[in-house]
Amino acid sequence: MKRARPTRTDPRVLIVGAGPTGLTAGVELARLGIIPRLIEKREMASGFSRAVGLLPASMEIFARSGTDAPILTEAIRFRGILFHRDARRVARIPLPDPPAPPPLLGLPQDRTEHHLAETFRRLGGAVDHATPLTGLRHADDGAIAEIDGQDHRFDHVIAADGVHSTARMALGLDFPGFDLDQDWSIADVEAPDWPDPGWFQGFLMDQGRIAVVVPLEAARFRIIADTPDALAALPVDMPVTRMHRAGRFTLSIRQMAQYTHGRVAFAGDAAHCHSPIGGRGMNIGIADAADLAARITQGDISGYHAARHPVAKRTIDLTEAARRRLTATGALSRMTITGALRMVALIPPLRRRLIRTLTDI
Ligand SMILES: Cc1cc2nc3c(=O)[nH]c(=O)nc-3n(C[C@H](O)[C@H](O)[C@H](O)COP(=O)(O)OP(=O)(O)OC[C@H]3O[C@@H](n4cnc5c(N)ncnc54)[C@H](O)[C@@H]3O)c2cc1C
Repeated sequence: MKRARPTRTDPRVLIVGAGPTGLTAGVELARLGIIPRLIEKREMASGFSRAVGLLPASMEIFARSGTDAPILTEAIRFRGILFHRDARRVARIPLPDPPAPPPLLGLPQDRTEHHLAETFRRLGGAVDHATPLTGLRHADDGAIAEIDGQDHRFDHVIAADGVHSTARMALGLDFPGFDLDQDWSIADVEAPDWPDPGWFQGFLMDQGRIAVVVPLEAARFRIIADTPDALAALPVDMPVTRMHRAGRFTLSIRQMAQYTHGRVAFAGDAAHCHSPIGGRGMNIGIADAADLAARITQGDISGYHAARHPVAKRTIDLTEAARRRLTATGALSRMTITGALRMVALIPPLRRRLIRTLTDI
């Protein structure tokens, strides 16, 4: 275990939200010697997992605080990607085997949050649960946050309070973009007899329907589909022995025009959100948080927006282009994608390029 450095509470930093973004900001600040106040409106840690994929960039950030070790022990290493046209397999793209570093690890988001919260605690921090931010306004060289019905002054506020950010609304800031008028669905299931269990599997079907199966543990899987019933969307029979949860969600594609407003900086889903295609939202939030924490410790956050806004913008452009192509209803579009995936699977440099595109942020 890495030893904590001597810590201080000056400058006074408030982090709003104990999702992966807020927790990473807390860990990085504490590691660099500043103990922030971290407030979370939930009464306890979330047991609800959305993200699964952890990219190398996130693992590099976690390695600085030692958070990578428990994650590496618990996470699964994806073996590769299988693409199907309906039930028929059209492409098999293996990921590099050990000892090569894993380009993609799988761990339910609540477990990543658990390990970050443990590191934060070890470094001297604490998450204040059941403590919502209820108001926020600018002050000279700082911001005033309303917490528990009282005003508190901070030198910096990191707004990591997700898509429906209270901080963003309290400051009257826009979140330009759009919401998709379509229900997507998610199901977490146990299926010990599912073939090729360590592989991420994608299914492309008629009328622009898509579904993916993501391994969570040896016999536990996450299904995501662009129709209201994830399990029913699969074109193959999945022998499910237990359904852990099933639900629906809508997609928002939005990004703030400016990430910093006075001494309030927005990070993670509070600043940008997009479709889960490509599995990047959480990973970009983690990188936002690490960048911002480093700037706060250096006493100058002016470069944060210019450094981080283009990263999420690129991801939004990439994932929207992919989503439009994958969910296009024309048969020609599906034939083109299927043909392209077959080529990628057969030609090693194209395979490596696809893996890089999927795992670099
Ligand atoms: C189905 C699905 C699958 C996904 N898969 C992936 C994936 O594989 N890889 C990936 O990288 N991303 C994925 N994502 C995206 C990922 O889940 C999000 O990008 C990530 O959760 C964002 O983290 P965050 O900390 O910024 O926000 P959140 O996780 O939303 O956390 C915000 C926190 O702020 C708290 N909060 C809100 N308001 C207040 C307030 N007023 N006061 C105090 N606290 C407050 C909330 O309770 C919450 O705990 C997926 C998303 C979905 C929907």
